[in-house]
Amino acid sequence: MVELSLLSKYPFLNASKEYIKDNNLSIQEILDDPLYERARIIGVERVDNAFSKRDVGERSLVTDSDQIMELLSYPIARMIAVCIDDIFFKRRYALGEAIHAYRNLINESPLFLINITNEFKINIKFDKDTHKISIYFVDYLHHAPTRYKEWKMINRGMKNGYIQISHKDLARIIQEALRTRINNELDERKCSKSVYETFSSDIKRIQNSVMLHRKNIEAAPIGKLDNKKLPPCMKNILAAIQAGENVPHMGRFALVSFLHSLRLSNNEILKLFSTAPDYEEERTRYQVEHITGYSSSTAYSPPGCDKMRTYGICPTEEIDELCKKKRHPLSYYKAKWKQEKPKK
Ligand code: SF4
Repeated sequence: MVELSLLSKYPFLNASKEYIKDNNLSIQEILDDPLYERARIIGVERVDNAFSKRDVGERSLVTDSDQIMELLSYPIARMIAVCIDDIFFKRRYALGEAIHAYRNLINESPLFLINITNEFKINIKFDKDTHKISIYFVDYLHHAPTRYKEWKMINRGMKNGYIQISHKDLARIIQEALRTRINNELDERKCSKSVYETFSSDIKRIQNSVMLHRKNIEAAPIGKLDNKKLPPCMKNILAAIQAGENVPHMGRFALVSFLHSLRLSNNEILKLFSTAPDYEEERTRYQVEHITGYSSSTAYSPPGCDKMRTYGICPTEEIDELCKKKRHPLSYYKAKWKQEKPKK
């Protein structure tokens, strides 16, 4: 049996669900019973922190009661996140939970981490003599944040289909796997009426903050870019980045070089990226400035449709009639402008 102290630190584990089940705790009890008021307060704190600090936050977990309240606050926070019903917020909340788990995981033993990877069905090998950890390359590609240079396959050695990773890398892979799992689970669930009623004032307050955040971003003009005229490939990449999804490097590269060719400034490009729940200004600025030639000797040209297809970032099932006539995303965008020019 997993100890309560661990469950409170890692409430996403299957053993946490079993703990709640074994103690016959119903959702209604957790929502109504004065005994769990502290758990409800922490639940709200989790979602608030995820939104404002990108981490659901650290609390004292000294007593059994602290640990139970912390454990129960997790399903409460998730239910609230579902009721806030905003894709940006849901992604941000999932990120906040995943980052918090990572901060704890880096202090755990390799064996503890490997046990957790079993829950996510990640194929890991651990050599007890050398303490070397390796991951099956398919799982690596699936979970590693390959948008960052140090995670690219080209920068990692592979032996018999396995890639050697550090303890810290493994914690980061669990972070990504957890983020994806929470994202999927939040998307699948519907807001429960009783959760909405219990937390209605907090839900409305957070919805307003999210709306304000969005308005602030949308208020500043972004060059002459017209989202509606973007080709399907660029629309998809931009939407994925803004939703905090794991976009491969080639996708980011294609979008940045495309926007640069449309004469958007680096700051304007950064602004588009800044709506992502996992936006890190310094790292993104470095990537953008490299691609646009600001910090390197070359300003890269955006790839044409053939290359986009080779990289698997042309959504072939979504292409339209204009796509069929064009061979470059830039020609698509320019043709859209011409199509919509008022005829004299
Ligand atoms: S055909 Fe070209 S412009 Fe159209 S979606 Fe694919 S890559 Fe983009």
